[in-house]
Amino acid sequence: MIATPRDSTPPNSISQRWQELVDHINRARMQYALQDSQTLSDADYDALFRELLELEDQYPILVTGDSPTQSVGGHRSELFEPVAHLEPMYSLDNAFSESELKAWSERISASLEQEPQYLCELKIDGLAVDAVYRDGKLETLATRGDGATGEDVTLNAILIASVPKKLKGTNVPELLEVRGEVFYPLAVFDAINAEQTKMGKPLFANPRNAAAGALRQRVDKRERELEQAQGSKREAKVAQDLEAAVLRLSGLEFTVHGFGAHDSTVLTKARSHSEVYERLAEWGLPVTSHAKVHASFAKVIEFIDYFNEHRVEVVFDIDGVVVKVNDLANQVELGFTSRAPRWAIAFKYPPEIVRTRLIDIQVSVGRTGRVTPYAVMEPVRVAGTTVSMATLHNPFEVSRKGVLIGDTIYLRKAGEIIPEVLGPVVEERTGNEIPFVMPVFCPECGSALAPESEGDKDIRCPNVQGCPAQLRERLFHIGSRGALDIEGLGEKAAQALLVSGVLANEADLFDLTADKLLDCEFFVNAHQEHESASINKAGEVLLAQLDQAKEQPLWRFLVALSIRHVGPTAAKKISHAFGSVECLQEATLEQLSNVDGVGERIAESIVDFFDTDWRLDIISRWRRAGVSFADARKDIDVLLGPLAGMTIVITGSIPGFTRDGAQDAIAALGATVSGSVSPKTDLVVVGDKAGSKAEKAQKLGVAITDAAGFHKLLNGDHQSVLPNL
Ligand SMILES: [Zn+2]
Repeated sequence: MIATPRDSTPPNSISQRWQELVDHINRARMQYALQDSQTLSDADYDALFRELLELEDQYPILVTGDSPTQSVGGHRSELFEPVAHLEPMYSLDNAFSESELKAWSERISASLEQEPQYLCELKIDGLAVDAVYRDGKLETLATRGDGATGEDVTLNAILIASVPKKLKGTNVPELLEVRGEVFYPLAVFDAINAEQTKMGKPLFANPRNAAAGALRQRVDKRERELEQAQGSKREAKVAQDLEAAVLRLSGLEFTVHGFGAHDSTVLTKARSHSEVYERLAEWGLPVTSHAKVHASFAKVIEFIDYFNEHRVEVVFDIDGVVVKVNDLANQVELGFTSRAPRWAIAFKYPPEIVRTRLIDIQVSVGRTGRVTPYAVMEPVRVAGTTVSMATLHNPFEVSRKGVLIGDTIYLRKAGEIIPEVLGPVVEERTGNEIPFVMPVFCPECGSALAPESEGDKDIRCPNVQGCPAQLRERLFHIGSRGALDIEGLGEKAAQALLVSGVLANEADLFDLTADKLLDCEFFVNAHQEHESASINKAGEVLLAQLDQAKEQPLWRFLVALSIRHVGPTAAKKISHAFGSVECLQEATLEQLSNVDGVGERIAESIVDFFDTDWRLDIISRWRRAGVSFADARKDIDVLLGPLAGMTIVITGSIPGFTRDGAQDAIAALGATVSGSVSPKTDLVVVGDKAGSKAEKAQKLGVAITDAAGFHKLLNGDHQSVLPNL
């Protein structure tokens, strides 16, 4: 064989062979793991694996995270099988106050006949796991389970970048069991919840739930499904789901905070827990960066107080501080109770509760006319943000909480997200506080408010068509992520469009033009003398996004139309069942109720909707403006689109498009949009401020285009961008 320089780019034939081998081996692993079939004999498997190793040795540039050479094990593994921890994983006792913590400290000091050194570390709100390394290689990673036996999630864990697959350095033990936490940094958690909102899925209450969900995804099942879906119209969808699952896993972080069984003389020689951390870090294991040794209890309290105050500055969610006796000999001496070590305790932070003054209780009118009282408060900082308003849900809730206008109140953030009024600080009352009285007329249109039917807790403004508040909220809702995802149609934009009279109601929305926007100050450039007026960036964005939104699938329009009780889930089912807005319009109450997941309440509301002239007018106006109310079965067209079968990566920003918008536009042409560049990628679109993906594409010899090329693709000029297509 001719020698090749090690960094050279492989010829296409080699890249292709590499991909074949990777696919083949991963498939065989998966099928073996699922025990439904062993597609390869061990000898054949080994031959393929050897060939892959040789290729990668020759062209190291090929080695990516996808390669089976980069993950543990070989022809084996049992996802979600029970796995017994080598040593049991104990839970920790909790202390909820300084005095409880002090009692613990006094107890152990008495037992040790001296005050020990303490190791303080932040308690991450994540998922406890147990990882076993043999001969320096990750063998299993399991959930905590009942402490004795957990679930084997190794196949998922190998997709988490911060879980080392191999230990490094010297004196790596033959056996090492470590304990740690798998978690999401808060920024990633927020991004996941934003994505959930967009997909119309429920939000995760906290990072721990999100991490547990990700770690326990059946990636293997999805891979098998993809296998079965190959060549069918489901393939793109299944591939997308799989990619999403993998993406979720890749955002997880791992921190080690303890160890179990091992045969390491290095660890045996260690004198303290903090020294063990140093050794583990030398082997490449991620240990906490917030651990600190303190010689006195007073310092421990300082540490706890400091992070209670600076909680929001930590990039992950913490629910307390773990205090350990640092000296390992002391740990042995103190030992364990039946469920927890005596030498460690978790100090739990209280949920953040603050006091502020309730200045007023006002009401807002929602997009379905529901009138909701809300608290107007003196601005106060709680769990990291400044809050001045909080919903009070309904008048019954106001009296249940017992708050009066003028009260000093307790406020907290429920799930650290939504501010919640807990109740009054009664001892602070002066006698000047006044009870809240629910208004009887709509504050915005003056209509008499009433419950929709007897016994309803909510009261509503009945002026659905003309109430400015309902109109504004409906218009804003059209642009929301769960509906048509028009970023340029935010709250202020919606308000400005209506107040200026540029829009009389939502029926005019898709008739907007640059000319019309000139009558709305919000969208006009502050112009100098002698210059004619022109629309600003916000106006251009809105028009471009409206144009794109016309192609959104039917279900998103059903959500956008604010049909009572019709959320994304119901909308998808309905649009799948009826396929077009015409069929839906003709549907009887009975036909609608027969759709799986659509109850009578939703069915009635839809029939009602299509029975109202002004609402039918919205639909026909939108249609005339070019809205396609695209068939829900459009994915068939997608598969037959001009870019069907291509995998395209978009990196950086494309002027005129949101990130999602750009991806959706490409996906609509049939391409699979991927988040990472691999030899499988057919094209990388490099926008502004592109990162490392562009470099990687160059290294791998993948075709590259810019924003102009992207527009060409959208305009049907595929030839000049992808000549080989
Ligand atoms: Zn009203």
